[in-house]
Amino acid sequence: MASGTSSSASAVALSPLTEEELTLTVKWSGKEYTVRVCGDDTVGELKRRICQATNVLPKRQKLLYPKVASKLADDSLLLSQIPLKAAVKMTMIGTVEDDIIVDPVESPEIIDDFELGQDEVVDIKDKDVNKQKLRRRIEQYKIELRNPCREGKKLLVLDIDYTLFDHRSPAENPLELMRPYLHEFLSAVYAEYDIMIWSATSMKWVELKMGQLGVLNNPNYKITALLDHLAMITVQSDTRGVFDCKPLGLIWAHFPEYYSAKNTIMFDDLRRNFVMNPRNGLTIKPFRKAHANRDSDQELVKLTQYLLAIAELDDLSALDHRNWESFNEDGYKRRRHA
Ligand SMILES: [Mg+2]
Repeated sequence: MASGTSSSASAVALSPLTEEELTLTVKWSGKEYTVRVCGDDTVGELKRRICQATNVLPKRQKLLYPKVASKLADDSLLLSQIPLKAAVKMTMIGTVEDDIIVDPVESPEIIDDFELGQDEVVDIKDKDVNKQKLRRRIEQYKIELRNPCREGKKLLVLDIDYTLFDHRSPAENPLELMRPYLHEFLSAVYAEYDIMIWSATSMKWVELKMGQLGVLNNPNYKITALLDHLAMITVQSDTRGVFDCKPLGLIWAHFPEYYSAKNTIMFDDLRRNFVMNPRNGLTIKPFRKAHANRDSDQELVKLTQYLLAIAELDDLSALDHRNWESFNEDGYKRRRHA
């Protein structure tokens, strides 16, 4: 039992396993990797940990474990519902993708963005188990700064898929799938906001995509940091089951002297991603079917106006971002009648 597993997890009986951490050994391609999970994590989260260690994307992994293999095919299942033991090794079958740019079409598409009831959102955000997950993520996840945080700036956090980029349409060149006015938008808002990009895919994919679009080396703005799926947490709702979200508290905990709930706004086409910080999210109209909509999509122009208009406010979370379009119009009327 004198393995390198430092936590107490290997020493205790692991069912029911909940907050207790479990160190699992995963065999893949002739090597062994250790990943740390806990009972409140889902199979999907386990796969993300394995992806971190092996670079095999979650959707490419098949997990083998005595007697429970079929359960490990259900990404939404909590690990506490599966009799895993630290002493028993898991085997993963899967291949690293080299050409990931042509591939994501295969991943399951989330279109129906469900609306959670107000009570349920409050409930999820305040649940101890979710706060604890967030704390653990804060400890585990390192945010690497590509550029320094700037004093006095607000923070804009951007999703990629369907927010800045149509990842589903076929194209010879990814630039064909970029949301119109992306660089103009980023250049303009950079005056008032630090910019972070947070995608529910792997870091490799985020860097590749953003690099191809020219976002990482534009002379007119700088990206403060990139975040990926490993920074997300999985939460449970009564009506919608298990889903992943992007807790801004992770960023606030890492840079408390710069960013907080008061000066952060996040754009995502999926409202559920804001569930841990509902006051800080703006649901952007998804940019799909790039070839048909490239000439007409004006969202980033309109949102530039909004972001610059609210930049002077002390507390962005006091706004209801669902009404952002009427904020623009009211401001326009105010200015006309002034
Ligand atoms: Mg998206």
